[in-house]
Amino acid sequence: MAFAPRIDRAVRYACSVCADLQISRLPVDPFHVGELAGITMMPYSTVLANPGWFPDDLPGQMQMNPVLTLSYPSFCIVYRDDFADPDRLRFPVSHELGHIFMNHYRDFPDQMEEERVPSPVLEAEADAFARNLLAPVPVVDVIRFNRPKQARGTVFGLPRSTWVSRLDALSLDRSYMDEDMANTLIWLFHDYLLGRRCAACGHVFTDEAQEDRCPACGAAGPDWNL
Ligand SMILES: [Zn+2]
Ligand SMILES: [Zn+2]
Repeated sequence: MAFAPRIDRAVRYACSVCADLQISRLPVDPFHVGELAGITMMPYSTVLANPGWFPDDLPGQMQMNPVLTLSYPSFCIVYRDDFADPDRLRFPVSHELGHIFMNHYRDFPDQMEEERVPSPVLEAEADAFARNLLAPVPVVDVIRFNRPKQARGTVFGLPRSTWVSRLDALSLDRSYMDEDMANTLIWLFHDYLLGRRCAACGHVFTDEAQEDRCPACGAAGPDWNL
């Protein structure tokens, strides 16, 4: 493959998916994103219970990859549902969504054949899509600036190592983020980022005024969403 990973496109597509599907809170659920986009999300246990549905080499492949996409006759993402920590699936599922949303199956069909390892270029694009879907740059920036203690992988539903690599790519991704995209994302996540819940009366509200009081009962220091 002769070109460099199209990180600009991956950032833009991930932002469009957030906007189109009205993703507005953390952690982002890639299973929900897949379903909204009409992709079948299939637990591996269901596949195993229905022999004949799947290619012969699927069990071998599922040993090495927790998540796999079948592209024929329509897109189906098979995922290992026997993991104790479902957060481990969040990034790999989003990576598969990246291949689909970035049209890799349409534009590079021979690269995406099941027995082949896709090129590093397509892998890098799918990774870039995934990290920008799960942890959009402006949302990460706002949290890191305003609530630095909360700027951790757990808020985004990501294992520590995935979170660390997301941070490594943050300034690269930011260089492809224009003002419109940043505003779109901040607007989408606005209520979540400013969301608070009163521990005394249970009232849930958006803290525009930042008065640190519950507007319903006046109790001090309501909990943040974050
Ligand atoms: Zn891949
Ligand atoms: Zn209250």
